[in-house]
Amino acid sequence: MLSIVSTPIGNLGDITLRALETLKKCDAVVCEDTRVTGQLLKLLNLEKKELISCHGYSDPKKVDDLIRRLKDGRHLVLVSDAGTPGISDPGYALVSRARGEGIPIEVIPGPAAFLAALSASGLPINRFVYLGFLPMKKGRQTLLKSFTDEERTIVFYESVHRIGKTLDELAEALKEQPERPVVIARELTKMHEEIVSTTAANLPLVAQSVMKKGEFVVVVGAR
Ligand code: SAM
Repeated sequence: MLSIVSTPIGNLGDITLRALETLKKCDAVVCEDTRVTGQLLKLLNLEKKELISCHGYSDPKKVDDLIRRLKDGRHLVLVSDAGTPGISDPGYALVSRARGEGIPIEVIPGPAAFLAALSASGLPINRFVYLGFLPMKKGRQTLLKSFTDEERTIVFYESVHRIGKTLDELAEALKEQPERPVVIARELTKMHEEIVSTTAANLPLVAQSVMKKGEFVVVVGAR
C-alpha cells in the first residue's frame, strides 16, 4: 500500500489525525530530504520510523526499488518537505508507477500553500489556474503577458530570491490593467504570516517594502 500524505506548510498543528495515524502505522516514509522529514517525525515522536530518501523520485532505479518493496507488501508513506506531495514537489513518478502496477494507493489530504493563499485572498476562487513556479527563462514573458486575458484567478509560487523581480515583471505585464487585484501571501501558517492585498500598479512599491524573507504565494485576480 502506498499512502500519499500531506504535511504542514509551517505550523505543526496542521498535521491531520489521519496523517498522524498513517505515519505511525506505516513501515517506512519516502521523503525528499531525510533531515526535513526527520525533524517532523521527531516532533511527532516518531523518530524511529525508517526514512527512505528519494529526492526528485526520477531515478528509475530508486522508483523500481520502491515498487519492489510495495509489491512485497510493505506499507510506504510518500511525503514531501512540506505540503502536498506532487504539488511543485516530487511524487509524480512514484505515484504514476504505483498506479500502473496496480498497487493500492490511498491519499491523506491536507495543507497546500496555494490553497491556503487562495482561500485567504478574498478573490473569487470558484475557478482558478495554478501555475506552480513560473518558468525562469523560456516562455516567462509570454506567460506573464497572457495574464491580461486570463478570466480565472491565477495562483503561483515564488521564492524569496525572485519575488521582487517577479512582482516588477508582473506590474509591467499588467500595466494596461493597473487596477487588477494582486494578493501576496507570505509565510502562511507561520509566526510571520503576512497577506498583502494590492493592485498591479502598486506592485513595485510592495516589492521594495515588505518582501525580504520567507516563502511566497502570489494570487492575481481575473481580468
Ligand atoms: N508541496 C508544497 C505545497 O503543497 O504547497 C509546495 C512546495 S514548493 C517546493 C515550495 C513553495 O511553496 C515555496 O517556494 C512557496 O512559494 C510555497 N510555500 C510553501 N510553504 C509556504 C508558506 N508557508 N507560505 C507561503 N508560501 C509557501
